[in-house]
Amino acid sequence: MAATRDSEEIESIRAAVRALCAGFPGEYWRELDRERAYPTEFVEALTKAGFLAALIPEEYGGSGLTMSSAIAIMEEIQAAGCNGAACHAQMYTMGTVLRHGSADQKQRYLPKIASGELRLQAFGVTEPTSGTDTLALRTTAVRDGNESYVVNGQKIWTSRAEHSDLMLLLARTTPREQVKKRTEGLSVFLVDMHAAGAALKINPIRTMMNHATTEVFFDDLRVPAENLIGEEGMGFRYILSGMNAERILIGAECIGDAKWLIEKATNYAKERSVFGRPIGQNQGIQFPIARAYAQMRAAELMVHEAASLYEQGKDCGAEANMAKMLAADASWAAADMCVQTHGGFGFAEEFDIERKFRETRLYSVAPISTNLILSFLAEHVLGLPRSY
Ligand SMILES: Cc1cc2nc3c(=O)[nH]c(=O)nc-3n(C[C@H](O)[C@H](O)[C@H](O)COP(=O)(O)OP(=O)(O)OC[C@H]3O[C@@H](n4cnc5c(N)ncnc54)[C@H](O)[C@@H]3O)c2cc1C
Repeated sequence: MAATRDSEEIESIRAAVRALCAGFPGEYWRELDRERAYPTEFVEALTKAGFLAALIPEEYGGSGLTMSSAIAIMEEIQAAGCNGAACHAQMYTMGTVLRHGSADQKQRYLPKIASGELRLQAFGVTEPTSGTDTLALRTTAVRDGNESYVVNGQKIWTSRAEHSDLMLLLARTTPREQVKKRTEGLSVFLVDMHAAGAALKINPIRTMMNHATTEVFFDDLRVPAENLIGEEGMGFRYILSGMNAERILIGAECIGDAKWLIEKATNYAKERSVFGRPIGQNQGIQFPIARAYAQMRAAELMVHEAASLYEQGKDCGAEANMAKMLAADASWAAADMCVQTHGGFGFAEEFDIERKFRETRLYSVAPISTNLILSFLAEHVLGLPRSY
């Protein structure tokens, strides 16, 4: 829909994603949505095509693509009416291993993640009591001799845990009151979820959209010491360093959602005739569609700006956060507009609009809520006093 000036390579990736998504029409998603079932065939198709390995370097068997290509993939998935939330984390969670893992960990895991033999798409950070205040998390990993750590605690909203072989887990290895800096004392582990047995319990949480999210309990779970990523106590920094990619990719998904919703609304406004003329002839219908389009295009520019800085290895924290926030605002505005444009039919399952409306609402809350992005900008970009 939008006139983004992509390279030929990216255009061909877009076309390939569109072709793949054409095999997964609205009925496919509607049925899964009713059952809250996982889109296994869709995820397998994306894996087989190499799209989920976009950001894994070729030396580890990945596609070695740029962030611009990766955002094109995620955007096209959503713009085709599909839902990449089922597997988007397979694309970026491995970044922590890639950036901070040892040579052995990279060799051991990345090629299998690239081929899809291993899924690393469960990200255990949020806990019920700490919420957004990650440094207050309570799950502990206590070193037991040289061989292992023993993990106890609980995570919530650990999405795709039932469809993942590995979990990237953030746990406290040094009590909060014993650390010099408040950001220290947390560590990142790769947890082999199959080896965990009864020490790991996963309960699905049924949510307003089909998201395969869960709560996870650790009861004396033994994690081999060799599965610690990087240095003990530095995990919070490692998790933060992966967040820019996550924000940019999810921003691109929101742009895709907004494009799908705007296209639906535009087509319907042209076709639907009331009072003997198309509803799209009324400015009361046209203007919200045009406004949603302008809002989407502005957000799209910020997503592209953030991706470009990311590719150049420049600091893109502010841009990645703004991209995610503006894109989530744009997709939500487009969803609201699309329901309004469709009148009663916006509520009918068969139009898929109510489904997209529910799905896209998430991104103003997760992976980071809008308020926290505004606090980040206020403090770190504008130099205002820290508010919390
Ligand atoms: C469907 C779904 C999937 C998710 N997937 C994952 C996942 O895979 N892995 C994972 O680790 N987490 C996941 N999350 C968690 C998600 O990242 C958090 O829900 C989100 O970060 C908000 O945290 P919270 O829900 O605990 O809200 P809270 O921290 O309780 O905040 C509630 C509200 O208060 C606001 N608030 C809190 N503190 C402040 C402040 N200082 N200033 C202003 N406003 C404030 C927040 O913005 C929010 O609006 C998921 C969540 C959902 C709903």
